[in-house]
Amino acid sequence: MSQHTPQQQLFVNGPAWEEDDRHLAVVASIVLPGPLDRPLDYLVPEQLAGRVEPGKRVRVPLGRSNRPTVGYCVAVATRNVPSSGLKAVCDIEDERPLLSPVMLELTAWMSERWLCRHGEVLEAVLPAGVREAAGSREQPYLMPAATRPAAESAPATRLTPSQANVLAAATEPQTAAQLADRSGASRAVVTRMVKRGLLVEVPAPSDTPPRSSSDEPPQLSEAQSAALEPICNAMREGRHETVVLFGVTGSGKTEVYLQAVEETLRYGKQAIVLVPEISLTPQTCGRFRSRFGRVAVLHSHLTPAERHREWKRIAAGEVGVVVGARSAVFAPTPRLGLLVIDEEHETSFKQSTAPRYHARDVAEWRCRRESIPLVLGSATPALETFQKCLRGEWRMAELPERVGGTHLPGVLTVDLRAGPPRRAGDLSSRLEAGIRWALNAGGQVILLLNRRGFATHIQCHACGHSVTCPQCDLSLTLHQPGSRGICHGCGRVIRVRPVCSECGQAGLALRGSGTQRLEDRVARTFPEARVARMDADTMRRRGSHEATLDAFRDGHTDILVGTQMIAKGLDFPSVMLVGVVYADAALHLPDFRAAERTCQLITQVAGRSGRGPKGGRVVVQTATPDHPAIRAAAVHDYEAFVRHELPIREALGYPPFGQVVRFVVRSRNETAAREWAEHLASRLRRQIEAAAEEAAGIRVLGPAPAPIERLRDAWRWHLQVQGPDGEILRRLVRLAIEGLKVPDSVAWIVDVDPVEML
Ligand code: ADP
Ligand code: ZN
Repeated sequence: MSQHTPQQQLFVNGPAWEEDDRHLAVVASIVLPGPLDRPLDYLVPEQLAGRVEPGKRVRVPLGRSNRPTVGYCVAVATRNVPSSGLKAVCDIEDERPLLSPVMLELTAWMSERWLCRHGEVLEAVLPAGVREAAGSREQPYLMPAATRPAAESAPATRLTPSQANVLAAATEPQTAAQLADRSGASRAVVTRMVKRGLLVEVPAPSDTPPRSSSDEPPQLSEAQSAALEPICNAMREGRHETVVLFGVTGSGKTEVYLQAVEETLRYGKQAIVLVPEISLTPQTCGRFRSRFGRVAVLHSHLTPAERHREWKRIAAGEVGVVVGARSAVFAPTPRLGLLVIDEEHETSFKQSTAPRYHARDVAEWRCRRESIPLVLGSATPALETFQKCLRGEWRMAELPERVGGTHLPGVLTVDLRAGPPRRAGDLSSRLEAGIRWALNAGGQVILLLNRRGFATHIQCHACGHSVTCPQCDLSLTLHQPGSRGICHGCGRVIRVRPVCSECGQAGLALRGSGTQRLEDRVARTFPEARVARMDADTMRRRGSHEATLDAFRDGHTDILVGTQMIAKGLDFPSVMLVGVVYADAALHLPDFRAAERTCQLITQVAGRSGRGPKGGRVVVQTATPDHPAIRAAAVHDYEAFVRHELPIREALGYPPFGQVVRFVVRSRNETAAREWAEHLASRLRRQIEAAAEEAAGIRVLGPAPAPIERLRDAWRWHLQVQGPDGEILRRLVRLAIEGLKVPDSVAWIVDVDPVEML
């Protein structure tokens, strides 16, 4: 079934007189780490008969030196093989398969779909905790022995300090690894304590008991029922259907998910709910918990051991509902009945490292394969999603109104070009008046500025020299306190001196405000208000999101200043004013989705205002009030933007009217980066020429320096290939790049359906 790599043909193609000398044998296809594109075939020896199965890891000899290497078995078949030539599997790593046949099929599809290595995909699908722990025996949980046998045979003073530390740490059942970790002792110490009877095995701690459902489902509105119906129909009829819930924030989408999940559970099946980022959506998780009690929440703060435990509970079918970020789409549910993606337009559903998959496409594959419904929800669906609905492939269910009849807030646009010149990121008098109005009415305020730091640009007053990162092609952002210049590309921190390094004059101008300066200014303008800031700088510690949001919810904060992370999933009824301080911040980036992102962000954050009985307002500050993305967001008409944007994408052949594959080449050597990018481009062009008619409409753009030309001391070049038919495009790209020998000085990536264009 697998094609042979050149390396393996050394073994398979013996001299001609051997050709007939073939016999039936059991052969396993093994996917190995490293740059091999295809699985290798190995014989299954007698003593492992029946134990080498797809989905298990095995140890095989690799290369001339036959070094033992762990690989994934993806297929086993009995077939005719030459009697000499194939090496044999040495041993198995897992007693039970880590991946089901369907999940294996999925990983093979993913490696085709995103032009990445099958081995990479397998590693991405299996969380690290699973890969590390699965081979070994289940780790027992330990507790101090109730009566210490050691106490009789030896006085307690004989405990070494590390043993005492372990006992002190053993306040609840933990594995040896956890105990060692917590007490700072070595694993050997813990093992010796078990041998001596100081620690004994105890049953695994039981999970938190299922909470009684405190949350009674409300009666659905007409629009909600109409949205739920096709989902339930598909479930009942056992067929796949993708249903897109297009509804403004507060229109009751989550309630529809909840009731669809309830229906799934009634069938005895499992549901997976994907959210953009767990820490940004605590309310959504909370609602699933209080409705269903036992919910597996897969968030990024889980330790590998915790993740492994959840994974096993899910695989055992013990968990009905799984809520998690992107990678939860791989949850090993044996009886999947429903998959939901909330805020489906969010770019975090695309993985930015290899394998560069998109969870939406993976979800659709799974749901189609399992004949179950997929539900995508958003107030601002991605254009790819919108277009599929317009073409009739997917069904759109609209929830046009907010639940409970509250109205969408009125939006006021402030033209930054009019009036006194200001720095981008300042407050206009209109916005100030709006804030005052909300505070006087006892309401709360959210201010969005999608740039962190104090000033986004440091420039010499005298000579105009701007301070940039020495290893990146980026201006430094000034962060206070401490006058630190931080590069947002590489994170490097540099003390900014008050004197220009070029001309020696004193006096640097701080241009472009970030969230820090905004917070500062707001606190000075409204000294009676309590101000908090939420951005990547203030949210480094675990739990700080929750703390900041709790304080806001409980009314301990009046004004919340932040980056796009405040735009997501929050439902605070006392918010009466939302201010978008600089709507154009991301509008002019060299990215074909810049307008879409801007419209989505403004629409999303605007939806946070006026969810309570007192109503609300939105103030949008912009230097381009007539831009279709901003105009549409200002009248809450996302569809108007979609209608304007789709023809532009079509004319340019951009998604959803074609596929884009982006290549980024990096090298410390500028010439090497350029030359490799040029080499790639010419190979692609040649492949396309050779394909003649089939390649109609396929274009290679570039190579050119990437918008961020230098990052972390590496020069970056990029090129793009786009074409109307994704499948043909990917096939030609694969042919062009297969077997390429990359020079050591160069690194490069292939990104299918890129969302990151800088
Ligand atoms: P969305 O997910 O679209 O933002 P939600 O499902 O969170 O909307 O609904 C907004 C608010 O309205 C929530 O507080 C929710 O509990 C409530 N809600 C939703 N549906 C109903 C309903 N049918 N009857 C009463 N309240 C509802
Ligand atoms: Zn840098």
